[in-house]
Amino acid sequence: MTCEEAIKLMDGYLDGELDPITNQKIEQHLGECHKCDHAYKTHAALIRTIGNATPYYKAPAELRERIQSSLREEIAEQPMRNGVRGSQVLFRRRQPELRTILSGTPWNWLAVAAAIILAAIVALNLVPRLQRPGADQLLATQLIASHVRSLMANHLTDVASSDQHTVKPWLDAKLDFAPPVLDLSQQGFSLIGGRLDYLDNRPVAALVYQRRKHFINVFVWPAGAEADRTMKTISRQGYQLLHWLDSEFNYWAVSDISAKELQEFEQLFEEQIASH
Ligand SMILES: [Zn+2]
Repeated sequence: MTCEEAIKLMDGYLDGELDPITNQKIEQHLGECHKCDHAYKTHAALIRTIGNATPYYKAPAELRERIQSSLREEIAEQPMRNGVRGSQVLFRRRQPELRTILSGTPWNWLAVAAAIILAAIVALNLVPRLQRPGADQLLATQLIASHVRSLMANHLTDVASSDQHTVKPWLDAKLDFAPPVLDLSQQGFSLIGGRLDYLDNRPVAALVYQRRKHFINVFVWPAGAEADRTMKTISRQGYQLLHWLDSEFNYWAVSDISAKELQEFEQLFEEQIASH
């Protein structure tokens, strides 16, 4: 038996519909062919999962309705989109199976699997981008790690200076953008230096300020056109994170000072940029 024949007969084999001789031939092939055996085990596991999870074959009416309407939207939107995401390719490829499920006509387990995968993709696509957990949380984790590392590893600054006219040229020379470096010592936030860091898959500037015995890392990088413009505060693991944007840059301040003080810092920072 060839692999092609084995795969073709796999559904029947899994459903116990084959004659004993063919069964035996498939079993013999599975014993000899790692690839087909792997496919068989994957399919069998999938069938078990589906069997356990869904005691009936037709999706609940509400789910069907949601899938149908988002399928319609997806189809309507398609010609307008330039970038094609992987999920949409899958979506397009699986539409016939999905229709089979939705219409309630005879089904096969592949269609059920496709529908379950699709339901997950649809659910994900129905959640607005910004509400998705993940991106921000992931970045917050990186920001806190960077902040803590800078304090622990004796590597708070690459260029230690309270003079913005020393820190700024140093950063400008190292980066492909020119971050604003402000002196806020009059207002109780002393600039103590700058550092290069790597966040969100790109080199960023870290400005380091001191408030009494606390440090503030301000991470700065250019804001993309698609940047999320809402201001955000995150409080986690005893650290405060504050995110804001201006016309050019994306800022994330991280510190263990209070949220109120960090907001005060942000306001002073923005005011001083505006007055330049
Ligand atoms: Zn094979």
